[in-house]
Amino acid sequence: MPAEGWYHPAAVTRILIACDFDGTITRHDTLHLIVNRFGDPAMWDTLEGPLRRGEITVEEAMQREFDSVRASTDAVLDHLSTAAGIRDGFPEFVRWAEDGGHRLVVTSNGFRVVIDHLLTEAGLAHLPVHSNMAEFTTDGARLSWSDRGDRCTHCDRPCKRALVAELRDAQTDAVVLIGDGISDRCAAGVADLVFARAHLAEFLTDDGIPFEPFEDFHTVRRRMESWLVAGA
Ligand SMILES: [Mg+2]
Ligand SMILES: [Zn+2]
Repeated sequence: MPAEGWYHPAAVTRILIACDFDGTITRHDTLHLIVNRFGDPAMWDTLEGPLRRGEITVEEAMQREFDSVRASTDAVLDHLSTAAGIRDGFPEFVRWAEDGGHRLVVTSNGFRVVIDHLLTEAGLAHLPVHSNMAEFTTDGARLSWSDRGDRCTHCDRPCKRALVAELRDAQTDAVVLIGDGISDRCAAGVADLVFARAHLAEFLTDDGIPFEPFEDFHTVRRRMESWLVAGA
């Protein structure tokens, strides 16, 4: 459901691109992959309903899931190297953004050790990353949350909305948000252009927030090119 009412980009030269990691940069959500392989996959089904209804936070759901994950860091990373996959066109999209002088930042509710590993394998270790942390052990995974300041006034939890606002600087002409899940929902409200797939597309449809659908980064790049050139 593109296009009415987007920020007019006539004067846009430098875009902040806030890009989710799991299920956005990766083809498969690494948190799901880790739980399915090393934890209790049935737990996801019991958490998703309460999460969608707002009865528990994303952070609570994640910690409960990862209590069941029994694996070393090496075992987790080995599995993800073959199972996660990088979404089509992402490396090319990064180069296009950098050549255009835009700033692409990975904004993730996932885990630094996983993100660094997969970006390094993709030759993209230089990308700035904001995420949470996980320590994997055979006794269960311990998660620690990045400081995103006070609870969000919109969704009442620490969320990406504050992070995106903080990343916006004096040289930022517009913000593009790219994501797939509930952790991107609130931040979509402060972006000038939103690319959404999967659950995020459903949430934004419910919220009445316009977005561009995408399944690969060639689509994202083409849409951004036409947005920048034509202002449409
Ligand atoms: Mg995601
Ligand atoms: Zn929020």
